[in-house]
Amino acid sequence: MNLMELDLKHIWHPCTQMKDCEVFPPIVAERAKGAWIYDSHGRPILDVISSRWCNLLGHCHPNVVAAVTSQLAQMEHVIFANFTHRPAVELCETLAPLLPPGLVRFNFSDSGSAAVECALKMSFQYQAQTGQSERTQFLCLFGGYHGETLGALSVGAVDLYSRLYKPLLFDAGRIEAPDCYRCPWEQHRDSCDVACLKRAEEVFERHGATTAALIVEPLLQGSAGMKIYPPRYLLGLRELCDAWGVLLIADEIATGFGRTGTLFACEQAGISPDIVCLSKGLTGGTLPMALTVTTDAIYQAFYDDYGAGKAFMHSHYSGTSLGCAAALAVLRTLKEESILDQSALRAQYFYEALTEELGTHRHVGEIRHLGLINAIELVENRHTKAPLPSGNRTGWHIFRYAIEQGLLLRPLGDVIYFNPPLTINKEELDFAVKTSAKAIRHILN
Ligand SMILES: *Cc1c(COP(=O)(O)O)cnc(C)c1O
Repeated sequence: MNLMELDLKHIWHPCTQMKDCEVFPPIVAERAKGAWIYDSHGRPILDVISSRWCNLLGHCHPNVVAAVTSQLAQMEHVIFANFTHRPAVELCETLAPLLPPGLVRFNFSDSGSAAVECALKMSFQYQAQTGQSERTQFLCLFGGYHGETLGALSVGAVDLYSRLYKPLLFDAGRIEAPDCYRCPWEQHRDSCDVACLKRAEEVFERHGATTAALIVEPLLQGSAGMKIYPPRYLLGLRELCDAWGVLLIADEIATGFGRTGTLFACEQAGISPDIVCLSKGLTGGTLPMALTVTTDAIYQAFYDDYGAGKAFMHSHYSGTSLGCAAALAVLRTLKEESILDQSALRAQYFYEALTEELGTHRHVGEIRHLGLINAIELVENRHTKAPLPSGNRTGWHIFRYAIEQGLLLRPLGDVIYFNPPLTINKEELDFAVKTSAKAIRHILN
């Protein structure tokens, strides 16, 4: 049996209907470099989704490889309760001044979902330990995605991932999120006065006094289909949280580290959350590691004599020195190679090229962009904005066609999106534009 057959004998791939593998079996990846993955026949595939939004600097960036290799030879991982080490301390020292102001206390874990669970428990316990034990609830946005564990699913509202598990989930208050492409007030996200914030105000009126925290993906609802909303809306949520004594958790797992054009998306709204969750780009996708970072005020509510029972009794595989070494190399590279400035230039070029190529296609409803992230929402009718019939699996067929042409897309339903490594070059972007347009035209002729 070859590798692919042996794979199908054993492996249950993530987020996949395995029966699809009968017609579309997994590709055997052999090596990866920069924005490219090479299969076992040496065929290159351009990874414009950064391998599930993780590979910030492309695959096998030499700085990251060198940092991890050298750390590995010295110490891979030690228990992080009672022990510390230089890579972890240096990472926090480096990251604290780069984060929105006030975020100075770091809790380590191993995945985005784990960072979210940590943030939920931390905010709940903070409220209880500051005389607010009636605050037992959470608020979130429709279309929000915060991971796949049961707590994260409870505050997530992408039905595809959570519908079936409803009986297992706790109730959270849900706010109708901005839907800028199909704005009920017929405004545009670049110029609107965020009339939709009224809906959030109404939910706060009902639940504000019993809520521990609101969790949001700042500016970009990734899994909902790369939906982009204006910074003013995020600022409005921050103001509502302040008015109601609710903590704000910013899930920057997808948006962090330059994905939206600034190092963190919160910067664009000029706000600081009370807690931020980081993962994915943190290690450049090299190793699974996550951070839940909070303020000194929250930290102090847990700080007491042991007998007071206020400690945060929460642990995970945490503080891996390998992950810290990778993250330090990522931050150093972002700075030394002015990656954000470079990617801002390419972001403008990419959006213009996509718009020129596909902007008038009759099935292209909207091309939206934030940083290097671009998303093409395909619709049945661009005037009524009616969606394509979901049974057609248009996005999936485009994905299959494109990968045969050497481009990895993996759309979200019928939203074709690009979230490439920040280091992608102009020629590679040209290839992405041409090939995705070819695939869209082929499937939606
Ligand atoms: C990917 C993602 C998560 C979950 O991270 P995992 O490492 O897959 O658990 C949470 N929130 C957002 C916004 C994400 O994009």
